[in-house]
Amino acid sequence: VDFRRASFVTSAPDITHLPEDVGMEIAFAGRSNAGKSSALNTLTDHKGLAHTSKTPGRTQLINVFRLDDERRLIDLPGYGFAKVPLEMKLQWQEKLAQYLEERQCLRGLVVMMDVRHPLKDLDSNMIAWGVAAEMPVLVLLTKADKLKQAEKNKVLRKVKENLSELGGEITIQLFSSLKGTGREPALRVLNGWFQR
Ligand code: GDP
Repeated sequence: VDFRRASFVTSAPDITHLPEDVGMEIAFAGRSNAGKSSALNTLTDHKGLAHTSKTPGRTQLINVFRLDDERRLIDLPGYGFAKVPLEMKLQWQEKLAQYLEERQCLRGLVVMMDVRHPLKDLDSNMIAWGVAAEMPVLVLLTKADKLKQAEKNKVLRKVKENLSELGGEITIQLFSSLKGTGREPALRVLNGWFQR
C-alpha cells in the first residue's frame, strides 16, 4: 500500500458519521500533543495532511484519510489534554471506546507517546484496550530526536518490559517526524496489517 496516496475524506463528530464500516482501517491515537498529526504527515509524506497544532486538545473530530478504495487511516481525537473540562474528557473517552469496540473494519491500533513522557494512564488504557480487542498494536515513541541515544534506548527497554505484561501483539519503536526515524519500520508493520 502506498501511504503517500493518502487523501482527506471527512471529519466525523462521532462514529455514526464515519464512512460505511467496510474495507480496512488503521486507527491512530495518542495524548494531545504527542505528535500524532506529525507522525501521520511523516508516514504519508504529506506536510499538511493532518493538521499539527499549537493549541492542543481543541479538536474532538475523527479525521478520515483514504489510501485506496479499501483502506483508510483514522486520526482519533487526542486524549488527556489537561485544560478541557472533565465532562468533555469523558465524552472523548466515550467516543474513543465506541470506535474501538464497534468498528468492524478496524485492523490495528497505533498509539503515539512522547518518548519523554511514556505510559501515562490513558496510554496504558488505550493499549490494553487494543490487546483486549485482539488488535495488533504499534506503539510509536515520538520525538525521539529530543533524547540522546542511550536515554531513548533506555525508555524503549522500559516500555517494552512494562507492556510485555499485557501479552497481545504489541510492537514498540522509536519514532521522529523531525528526522524521519522509524518511518520505514512503522510502514512495514502497518502494511502487514493491511495485508491480513
Ligand atoms: P498532536 O497533538 O499529537 O497531533 O501533535 P502534533 O503533531 O501537532 O505535535 C505537537 C508538537 O510536537 C508540535 O509542536 C510539533 O512540532 C512537535 N513535534 C511533533 N513531532 C515531533 C518530532 O518528531 N520531533 C520534535 N522535536 N518535535 C515534534
